[in-house]
Amino acid sequence: PKAPILLEAIDVEKHYGKFAALGGVSLRVRANTVHSVIGPNGAGKTTLFHMLTGTKAVSGGRILFDGQDVTHEPDHRRVQRGIARSFQVTSLFLSLPVRENLRLGAQGVAPAHALNPWHEPIGARAQSQVVEAVLAKVGLERFADIPAGNLSHGQQRRLEVGMALAARPKAIFLDEPTSGMGIDDLDDMKRLIKSLRDEHTVVLIEHNMNIVMDISDTVTVMQLGRVLAEGMPHDIRSDDRVRAAYLGNM
Ligand code: ATP
Repeated sequence: PKAPILLEAIDVEKHYGKFAALGGVSLRVRANTVHSVIGPNGAGKTTLFHMLTGTKAVSGGRILFDGQDVTHEPDHRRVQRGIARSFQVTSLFLSLPVRENLRLGAQGVAPAHALNPWHEPIGARAQSQVVEAVLAKVGLERFADIPAGNLSHGQQRRLEVGMALAARPKAIFLDEPTSGMGIDDLDDMKRLIKSLRDEHTVVLIEHNMNIVMDISDTVTVMQLGRVLAEGMPHDIRSDDRVRAAYLGNM
């Protein structure tokens, strides 16, 4: 049996003046899957993320999360429902130790959400358990006491994911978590994302096609603000329209 649908977009539109960045996008994300959104530059992937996480308002359509209509809820309300988004490296507290970063993540004090407490506050002991579990999950135990600014690029990207995980989300949105990475870091990130679906649902924007095909349960292909195709990696790879959109680059 298929997992229940955690997140659904129904005919979502986003207009900037007369330009439709999203021209009616529908998708269903099942719980405990990795669902990737791919497509050429300008296809609308980031715009769709803004709509789903509530950082920008839709021009039309509906968004359901966990059975509730969240279309008009601001991002901090959706965060409280269990939606977390991984931001760029700049949202880390670079002068603070790795562990303290995660502690702040667990308290909902990620810089981008400074005014938006995540969930109910949890006790100090439960918080420590979350922090230590996330440290292990993102493979940064050995670096727990060093400043985040001293981590390598790849380690900082994993800490970013950790910051989102520390908020104990149901769904985690990752926007190009592998950008600028070397091969070893890529493998670590790939393994990390794969491991998330035990406890979370992952929505991923990713340009590296090998990674997408390797770790996704479902792939949505966007082009010019619309869904061009959706399916399992194997089907997407052999889809003629997708191949045409990528001019054979996959
Ligand atoms: P990339 O892979 O390059 O990040 P993307 O698929 O994420 O691309 P979006 O960033 O969602 O694409 O942009 C979709 C389209 O919407 C683009 O043509 C972009 O120029 C346009 N767009 C995005 N934000 C705005 C804005 N604030 N005003 C006008 N047009 C915008």
